[in-house]
Amino acid sequence: MSKVIIIGSGLGGLSCGYILQKNGYEVTILERNMHIGGCLQSFFRGGVKFETGMHFIGSAAQGQTMHRMMNYFGMTEEVRLYALDTMGYDTISFAGESFRFPNGEEAFVEQMSASFPREKDNLRRYFALVKRIASASTLNSLTSKERDLAASTEYQTRSINEVLDELFDDEMLRNVLVGNLPLYAAELDKTPFSQHAYITDFYNQSSFRVVGGSDVIALSLANSIRKMGGRIFAGRGVSRICCNDTQAVGVETADECFFPADYVISTVHPARLMEMLDTKLIRPAFRSRLRSIPNTTSCFSLYVKFKENTMPYLNTNYYGYKTSTPWNCENYTEAEWPKGFLYMHHCHEEAPRYARSGVVLSYMRMADVASWKGTTVGHRGSGYEEFKRIHAERLIRRVEEHLPGFASAIDSYYTSTPLTYLEYTGTEDGSMYGVAKDISLGAAGRVPYRTKVPNLLLAGQNTNSHGMMGVIVGTIVTCSELIPAERLYKQILENG
Ligand SMILES: Cc1cc2nc3c(=O)[nH]c(=O)nc-3n(C[C@H](O)[C@H](O)[C@H](O)COP(=O)(O)OP(=O)(O)OC[C@H]3O[C@@H](n4cnc5c(N)ncnc54)[C@H](O)[C@@H]3O)c2cc1C
Repeated sequence: MSKVIIIGSGLGGLSCGYILQKNGYEVTILERNMHIGGCLQSFFRGGVKFETGMHFIGSAAQGQTMHRMMNYFGMTEEVRLYALDTMGYDTISFAGESFRFPNGEEAFVEQMSASFPREKDNLRRYFALVKRIASASTLNSLTSKERDLAASTEYQTRSINEVLDELFDDEMLRNVLVGNLPLYAAELDKTPFSQHAYITDFYNQSSFRVVGGSDVIALSLANSIRKMGGRIFAGRGVSRICCNDTQAVGVETADECFFPADYVISTVHPARLMEMLDTKLIRPAFRSRLRSIPNTTSCFSLYVKFKENTMPYLNTNYYGYKTSTPWNCENYTEAEWPKGFLYMHHCHEEAPRYARSGVVLSYMRMADVASWKGTTVGHRGSGYEEFKRIHAERLIRRVEEHLPGFASAIDSYYTSTPLTYLEYTGTEDGSMYGVAKDISLGAAGRVPYRTKVPNLLLAGQNTNSHGMMGVIVGTIVTCSELIPAERLYKQILENG
């Protein structure tokens, strides 16, 4: 049996581990943190649970792609889903005016054209384009046929705003349609329209929160991997990928243990990978290219515990903006922060009446907390605590402007900053979703699945895309380097 070492136990590492162990490889997953899951981690404070990363998933209704993937990964029994409001899974709010996104193409076009009647035909054209791009991805649509290269290539090189400007006359509608852009940290003139199309299609098909928190996804995958004989070690960070003149031979952990490997799969941020890889097989130009790919922005998170039976459960994701545009919230002056926020309740049980906890996310740059870089959680000092308090209160005031009653329903709150994400996931600059998609960089902005170390493969959110679908699609591409793609598709179609 070939030995595979996987670095990182986030969704990327666990989903690769599941597929490879199932297909006869001997898998060992090494995780730096004491808890597995990466961005699937949740934590308890004050008796309630909070999600740190993944909050909701799409396309997971019976027969849809994510549902089939979850079946294949043996998750459907352990991972219970609760549908967000089908008439408004996302709510976009600009300075007093709100718009809701319903599931389904027809409902979406009807509901949007009720507010923008002159754009009805354009909305139909927009949706047809979104569908065409999403189904052009063989994996998103679960077929192994050749990709519709024309659709995927063209819209990987055109920005979201350029395409929307061409499709619609109404500026407000253009802004509404990208109102959920914090889900992919889109930037004006940079992020490809294809990214917008994948996310829009994914959540428009169906949208669900994970009952009890998204950590159950990690636990389910980990249980299955262990049951099949795979090993997962938390608290064993990889410090070095050991190579001979031609290939990787194993990895060394921070506690100086050597794990031999026939294959190594890294799911960590490429900047972290380069730190572990001291071999002439990797050229300096490749190293500097990977290090220079820009990252998506980081964020400040406000984790709120509500007073008991006070805050009605909000079955929608709420995106609030200070002005009438969602763009450019990552560029702010200190006085302007926060320009926007994403507010979500934790789904602690099926059909909850009241929320026990929720999270408010707002973009924040690492530069804002750079003076505390190098310190560790719980030991960053009083200045840092004061920084967090001031920003939490500003964020609470901003949410209160949109949703009166929010502030008075708070029992207690906790916060995290870009430094927290850096510490918990190792993602460069605490970036939310890893490397950014940027149309101006073309192939130079992509992280490859393979390297010049022939038995070192890459997976995780930086290779294909972030999120439940983006990471799993990347996992399948990476695993196809070791298992014939046709066999993998067949397995997913038969078991999914
Ligand atoms: C705030 C936030 C909200 C999000 N919301 C959603 C959402 O609602 N829906 C959705 O689909 N997606 C969402 N995402 C994105 C999604 O959670 C991620 O894209 C996905 O979970 C990333 O998985 P990954 O395995 O690629 O990376 P990670 O989860 O970052 O895992 C990488 C792992 O590698 C470990 N590691 C790093 N260095 C080493 C080392 N040297 N040795 C061993 N281990 C190491 C890290 O500790 C980590 O556990 C969100 C992300 C964030 C941050």
